[in-house]
Amino acid sequence: MFKKILIANRGEIAVRIIRSCKELGINNVAVHSKADADAMHVKMADESICIGNNPAKESYLNIPAIITAAELTGADAIHPGYGFLSENARFASILEEHDITFIGPKPQHIEIMGDKIKARETISKTGIPLVPGSDGSIINISNLKKTALKIGYPIIIKAAAGGGGKGMKVVYSEQTLVEQFELAKSEAKANFGNDEVYMEKFLENPKHIEFQVFADKYGNVLHLGERDCSMQRRHQKIIEEAPAQNINIDEKEKVLNSIINAMKKIKYVGAGTVEMLYEKNKFYFIEMNTRLQVEHPVTEMITGFDIVSEQIKVASGEKLKLKQEDISFSGHSIECRINAENSKTFLPSPGSISVYHTPGGPGVRVDSAAFEKYKVLPYYDSLIGKLIVHAENRDLAISRMQRALNEFIIEGIDTTLELHKEVITSKDFKTNNYDIKWLEKYLARN
Ligand code: ADP
Repeated sequence: MFKKILIANRGEIAVRIIRSCKELGINNVAVHSKADADAMHVKMADESICIGNNPAKESYLNIPAIITAAELTGADAIHPGYGFLSENARFASILEEHDITFIGPKPQHIEIMGDKIKARETISKTGIPLVPGSDGSIINISNLKKTALKIGYPIIIKAAAGGGGKGMKVVYSEQTLVEQFELAKSEAKANFGNDEVYMEKFLENPKHIEFQVFADKYGNVLHLGERDCSMQRRHQKIIEEAPAQNINIDEKEKVLNSIINAMKKIKYVGAGTVEMLYEKNKFYFIEMNTRLQVEHPVTEMITGFDIVSEQIKVASGEKLKLKQEDISFSGHSIECRINAENSKTFLPSPGSISVYHTPGGPGVRVDSAAFEKYKVLPYYDSLIGKLIVHAENRDLAISRMQRALNEFIIEGIDTTLELHKEVITSKDFKTNNYDIKWLEKYLARN
């Protein structure tokens, strides 16, 4: 087992990882930017070290500073959390060269899945169905027009290096095709430094259903079921739940078998998420995330499987103790992402929290790094916490979430608590009558 883990992240996920380190009896180091000197993850870790100025490029994305911090503190492993360097294959390779374990998959897995075109190519050979789309990247206008005609409108143009819902353009007819293609390319270049784009059929009313997989270094692969992450705004998840409702059992079994076989074939290691769209009883692969997901708690709540602690154990070379038949699914879990944003305008709301009271009681979990007088900084993403509930069934989970949202008090800044209260109590959410478009339509109406 590792002697000391450095957490190359901040906010709620750094806190979550420190909690696992403490439970496993592993020394831990927090890294932080100048402005984060008083942050919760810094206070909670055994040690902390400043790695640079406030912009992420100079601190949480600063590879030399993070490696120096690991060397100085004697850390033998780094957990990257999500975002920042978690899907940076170069970072994972550099760590290998420094004899520091990257708690995650191998660099080649990050590289394949981080390039969505390579990921489609790899996945297409494993029997997992893909969203119909282009073979490889779109190289010129004639290729663009031909492919769109072949696939049939509407189509979506996506960045090969995309993430966080950025650089995607939906096109309904040839009239706007070229213009949107150019726009997608320049957005991709600006956001990811790579202007390669590809095309998929734009599915009109799908659900976003994703499967959590987990593998050790000895070829043992498990799945931990699925999550429904269809409640989205601008392709970003807002509410997640597990298990997904009304999914065709035969299709689910079929897709799970192909996923497990694919993971065995590529010799995947650690936690991963296979994201799919589900429409008219069929699954279609969109991407694989080779890291811990924001929404991992809903899976932990229904399986009792501690994903972060298990990531640490398998990275240190331990064998998975559980087999697929040992994984059981119990009850229902929902997560609301609480962002420091206005519930109506979604404008970011950095500033000082004046009153902070978290909900509690049976089946309630709060993963957050906020506290009274905590200052939400403008440099980083606006997620200030996640409220997660677990109950015997979906109806009870919804009323528990409603009760917990009403107990949650955050004053001094705007948050999305009010939005969650509305969505959770809406008839469509209660009856599971929502897809990836629902929230935007709802917001346009209200
Ligand atoms: P990112 O990596 O930027 O998050 P994804 O490929 O995971 O991008 O897609 C994010 C979201 O965008 C999906 O959950 C879905 O809502 C929407 N989306 C992506 N591809 C399609 C598609 N082919 N048809 C309809 N919606 C899509």
